Formats: sequence, C-alpha cells, structure tokens
Amino acid sequence: MAPGSTIGIIGGGQLGRMTALAAARLGYRCHIFTPETDSPASQVSAATTVAEYDDAAALERFAAADDVVTFEFENVPAESVRLLAEHKPVRPDWNVLRIAQDRLLEKRFFNDIAVPTATWREVTSPESLAVAIAEIGCPSVLKTTRLGYDGKGQVKMTEQMPPAEAWARMGAPVGVLEGFVDFSCEVSVIVARGVDGQIASFDVVENRHLNHILDTTLAPAALSPVLAARARAVAEDSARALNLVGLLAVEMFVTHDGYILANEMAPRPHNSGHWTMDACLTDQFEQFVRAVCGLPLGSPKRHSDAEMKNLIGSDIDAWPELLREPGARLHLYGKAEARPGRKMGHVNRLHPRKA
Ligand code: AMP
Repeated sequence: MAPGSTIGIIGGGQLGRMTALAAARLGYRCHIFTPETDSPASQVSAATTVAEYDDAAALERFAAADDVVTFEFENVPAESVRLLAEHKPVRPDWNVLRIAQDRLLEKRFFNDIAVPTATWREVTSPESLAVAIAEIGCPSVLKTTRLGYDGKGQVKMTEQMPPAEAWARMGAPVGVLEGFVDFSCEVSVIVARGVDGQIASFDVVENRHLNHILDTTLAPAALSPVLAARARAVAEDSARALNLVGLLAVEMFVTHDGYILANEMAPRPHNSGHWTMDACLTDQFEQFVRAVCGLPLGSPKRHSDAEMKNLIGSDIDAWPELLREPGARLHLYGKAEARPGRKMGHVNRLHPRKA
C-alpha cells in the first residue's frame, strides 16, 4: 500500500492518535472509527466515523473508504471484524484478535507453543473455583476471561476470601484462576511482523505498575543476556505462531529462579512501547504502520536508554516543568478532562548511549 493510501483504525484513543501521527509522517491518511466525538485519534486524522462498534452500516461505509483496516484495541465484536474483512484487508486478522480477547485462549495458545505461564485453571462456578483453589493454592488471582485490563475484573484470593464472594466480585460467567507469581520483575517485548513474514522486535523493557496501571517503563530491562534472549524469543515465536501481520506486545513475569512466564499479549501498539518514540530509530507506531501497509519493517535499534513515565490524571499538571526539563520528551494525548486513573500523556527521559 503506497503512501497516500488510507488506513482505517478502529478505536479513537491515544494509541490511534500516535499511530495516525506516525502514518502522517509517511504520507498516509488515517480514518478513525470510534463512538466518541473529538477523540484523541480523530483530532490528528484526516477523517472520523463516529458510530458504535456494532453498527453494521457505519462499518461498511468505513471499510469502503479505506485501503486497509487495523485496530488500536482488541475488544471488537467478532461480527464487526467479519464485516470489515468482507470489504478490505484486516490486519491483524480475526484469529489473532479472538485469541487476545480471551485469557483462556491466550493461555492455551502460549502453553501450546511451549511458552510457560503461571499455573492456571478454567473456572465456571463458585464450586469449580473452590476445586481450583484446592489444586493451585493461595495466594492466587481470579481473573475474568474477557475485557479485563489494568487490573479490572481481578480478585486476589487469600485464605480469608470465601470462593463464593470472590466469584460474585469477579462478576462474569467464566474466569481463570492463576497461581500468584512471586516475580522479581515484569517485562515486555514488542514485536512487529510484516506481510512477508519479516520479524523485528524491540529491546526487552521492565514495567513497573502502580495501582494496577503501568507507571514506568525502563529501557532496557536489567536482565542477563540469556533471559533477555528468552523473553524476545517468546514474543517472536508468538508472532510467528499467530501468523501475525502487525504488532504484538507480550507481557511477561521474570521469576526469582530465572524463569520467564507469559502473562498476556496485545496485538497492537502498547503503553510499554512508548519509550521507542524517542529512543529507537523506528518507533512502535511507525513499525505498526509499516507492517499493516505491507512495507519493509524499519530498524528497531535503540540509540538511547530511556525511562517512560505515564502521566495519569492530575500528573499532567506538571507539563510546564516537564517541557523545561533537559533530556525529557513530552507527549500529550489531547484529552480535555484529567480524571483519576486516566492516561493523559507520557514523558520519555533519555540517556543517550555512548557509541
Ligand atoms: P493483567 O491484567 O493480567 O495484566 O494484570 C495486571 C497486573 O497484576 C500485572 O501486571 C501484575 O502486576 C499483576 N498480576 C497479574 N497476574 C498476576 C499473577 N498471576 N501473579 C502476580 N501478579 C499478577
């Protein structure tokens, strides 16, 4: 797809915004599909369709106006993806989204390609939760299989928590009970895979969370070369096994005894890849555009070490000082209201590497 073509992006958040900015640098136009008016992505895009994600007529009109369709989030109804794919290439495809939407399918996928995860059991009732707890033990974490993010839909299981109460709190018909991982750190790898199967992964980074929301990413992660290679292989093997065209972020735990366990994956740009915007030759958003448009992938080489700090809620009030700080690069998402817990922007602090 030559520059000048139109990329349809489902979702209007900051990931869509930064994708549209990267696409514009390469001469592409973006068309955003979102239920929200004045979304962060539509502020910087050529066109927007404002409609619900299951509005068939709007989806058809949207696809007709685009050359390729992609997503800035994965929780899109199956029927909508099927409709879009009838009209235009959809990258990544439905099979990838389907697996990434569901924690059970995701864990089965990882285990099937010999990538270890925390011990887990599918649970479908308070009774099956009690059986799973007897097998896995406490502490453990009960998670919804769908629509969970930033710790939403999760209940920590301790000896004191009755299964029936945990089940009610989770509030879904199916869940996954996971053994609690006593990790030494959390890491992630973002990998791109092109239409021709070319693979390029960014360096392994460490992610630190606060109140279940990503707070800081440190690039690179302080891992041994063996563990870093292992984490990278998990992401690359996953992308190949999925036959992915696009971007995949894989979040992993590093255990104290030196194992890498996959936690979850997202087939799109990811918050833990924002550091690449200022510290790599090609950033995750440009890489995403290149993959989705069938272009050669760029070099993911890191030219600087970096620390990415999310600006959540009122953190954004510090923007005047951040603009004055040497070595800091500020990125704001154009959101009008700084509600608590809302991602408003991020700052990348750079430490250039000596040649
Ligand atoms: P998730 O929604 O699965 O990404 O979980 C959000 C965060 O909760 C993770 O980044 C971890 O910090 C923590 N967490 C999730 N699952 C586990 C687990 N099985 N053991 C320990 N911590 C976990």
